[in-house]
Amino acid sequence: MKRVLIIGSGPAGISASLYLARADIDVTVISAGESALEKAGKIENYFGFSEAVSGKELIENGKSGAKRLGVKFREGEIVDLNIDANNKIEAYTSSNKEEFDCVLLATGSQRKKPDIKGLKELEGKGVSYCAVCDAFFHNGKPVAVIGSGSYAMHEAVYLAQTSPKVTILTNHENTELSACDNIDICDKKIAELTNVGNLRHVIFDDGSHIEVSGIFVAAGIAGSTDLANKLGAFIEGNTVKTDKNMFTGIPGLYAAGDCTGGLLQVSKAVYEGAAAAMEIIKYLRKN
Ligand SMILES: Cc1cc2nc3c(=O)[nH]c(=O)nc-3n(C[C@H](O)[C@H](O)[C@H](O)COP(=O)(O)OP(=O)(O)OC[C@H]3O[C@@H](n4cnc5c(N)ncnc54)[C@H](O)[C@@H]3O)c2cc1C
Repeated sequence: MKRVLIIGSGPAGISASLYLARADIDVTVISAGESALEKAGKIENYFGFSEAVSGKELIENGKSGAKRLGVKFREGEIVDLNIDANNKIEAYTSSNKEEFDCVLLATGSQRKKPDIKGLKELEGKGVSYCAVCDAFFHNGKPVAVIGSGSYAMHEAVYLAQTSPKVTILTNHENTELSACDNIDICDKKIAELTNVGNLRHVIFDDGSHIEVSGIFVAAGIAGSTDLANKLGAFIEGNTVKTDKNMFTGIPGLYAAGDCTGGLLQVSKAVYEGAAAAMEIIKYLRKN
């Protein structure tokens, strides 16, 4: 049986799961917490309700319908994607790796970038959002990762293969991460990032600083563009580019909902989830 992974249990992911499960496909939905919709107290602009309905109720009803059709829901954060030699997509959590025939990114709108002075100005000039893409440029040199969760550690472990020292900068956020091998944890609040010659200076609130070759941003959980980037899909700003059938251009990888930009509404997420599922079904029947 073909296996599809849907990353995200919002309206886009759940909508796609209904079509896929009804086509006899093994569907797993993994999500790292609430859908944006669960924050909405009252929805009055979605089809089919005579009275306002809460976002939570829409999600719960959506999930229970999908479960009835055999869709499996799991909690977890996907931190990396990779295509193996047999063209399967490997999906990684911090502790596990699984293979799928197709993956749908339904991860919602991209998290905000950390609000750190100098960050925007250094993007592409030593500040990167993708270890796999840019580690090469800092081979043999110290680097830093901004973040405090599993995604930050995942990026740090990758960078530690080619950098003598990786410092995870939590920017004073709570963390359960601990130092290991050549990975350090620094919990100081960051005041500013600057470029000095070939180095990036990370200046802390207490006036101290460290010097690194590159800074990798991995704050919060891995977002759609972080994951799309790993497989080489096109991104534009904070959104994943797709064709009208929600195909990213990377075989087996699709995206739907807020992560593709445009109208950030339930009706559009539900439509795109359905469109992606129809395209995935066609792809799996051909391959
Ligand atoms: C307060 C508020 C009110 C709103 N009111 C309305 C309204 O009245 N009408 C309307 O149409 N729309 C409304 N919206 C917008 C609507 O909620 C979104 O358009 C819709 O939820 C988008 O669906 P989605 O499936 O694309 O993403 P989301 O619903 O955001 O779901 C994304 C999912 O991806 C998961 N995820 C992200 N990254 C990862 C990862 N790396 N690993 C695993 N899981 C991951 C998240 O945990 C989440 O489950 C509102 C939104 C908010 C915040």
